[in-house]
Amino acid sequence: MSEELSLYLHFPFCRSKCIYCDFNSRPLRDGEELNAYLAALAGEVRRQAMPARRVVSIYLGGGTPSLLGAGQLAALLEEVRRSFAVDRAAEITLEANPGTVSGEAARAWADLGVNRVSLGVQAFQDRLLALLGRAHGVREVASSVEALRRAGIANLNLDLIYQLPGQSLEDWRESLRRAVVLAPEHLSAYPLQVEKGTPLAALVRRGLGLPSEEEGLRMEQELVETARRAGLERYEIANFARPGCQCRHNRRYWERLDYLGLGAGAHSCIGERRFWNVRSPDVYTRRAAAGKSPRGGGERLSPGTRRSEVAILGLRLTEGLSLAAFRERCGMELEQAFPGVTRRLGAVGLAVCRDGRLRLSRRGLSLANRAFVEFLP
Ligand code: SF4
Repeated sequence: MSEELSLYLHFPFCRSKCIYCDFNSRPLRDGEELNAYLAALAGEVRRQAMPARRVVSIYLGGGTPSLLGAGQLAALLEEVRRSFAVDRAAEITLEANPGTVSGEAARAWADLGVNRVSLGVQAFQDRLLALLGRAHGVREVASSVEALRRAGIANLNLDLIYQLPGQSLEDWRESLRRAVVLAPEHLSAYPLQVEKGTPLAALVRRGLGLPSEEEGLRMEQELVETARRAGLERYEIANFARPGCQCRHNRRYWERLDYLGLGAGAHSCIGERRFWNVRSPDVYTRRAAAGKSPRGGGERLSPGTRRSEVAILGLRLTEGLSLAAFRERCGMELEQAFPGVTRRLGAVGLAVCRDGRLRLSRRGLSLANRAFVEFLP
């Protein structure tokens, strides 16, 4: 088992709910609710303490953790540093939304050791942001980035979404242009997913149109080319970074290394064990107040599931899946675990096996799910 560990801390509150969102988040009711949740989270941090494990990354995700006050964030991080051996060089990421980043807040985050901020920009057209139910406008993006840079945040990710309803290829080009002008070290861009049960899904059922698959592929092509021209190298299907600025925390997920998730609905994977907390922030907080565990469930991964995860997550990285690493981690050759897979994927142009690695091709990165079905347990 690796001595290194990543920590994920979940903050399940936002200003309002975006229409496409099926993350574990909802609008915050009041300060009392927030304090009760933070007390529960601090309690879980203490109970899960692993002082022997070296924490190399911390990710504060949500939700909108940038809604936390500086004092609340300081108390939470202090609790984490008391309970875990946080590496001095640990990557500490805070997810933030434009409109929640003041100069004062950004300085406080930097003082507390936050060294990476992931900003949920999504689009550079106010009409698209309004349609998505985002609680910010385009104007707040540049002011947020300026505040973060002034505070000394040197590792900035911008999140974008494409294939939005009513988004033209020209809109997307404009979003990409304006994103790279802000000179982020990292860019994440995902096609919009219509998740069951969201207001977006209801609108699509009632006839809201979305760009076609073909238009989506053109948008993806624009993304890859714009990122490359801006010096952002594609290192994962949807993630691009300047040299030395890949997200360490997310890389550890894709490399299937240990992570501990704390907070409502947070998932963990330690060795062969996977476990998760109850999803509802109310139930999470109530259980903590009653001195009960927030654990919602858990399982021991079967060898087949593990092989499948190691292969699929590894293939998400553009450097590909190392055949030697697969053998070492799963106790057998990839070809033995998934007979004929390399030949089949090669024959349809989805992957290439070379220099001891199986890599998705350019086409395979666009159609990754077609390749991944080959590795399902
Ligand atoms: S800000 Fe993010 S987490 Fe919050 S509702 Fe919107 S998409 Fe979901």
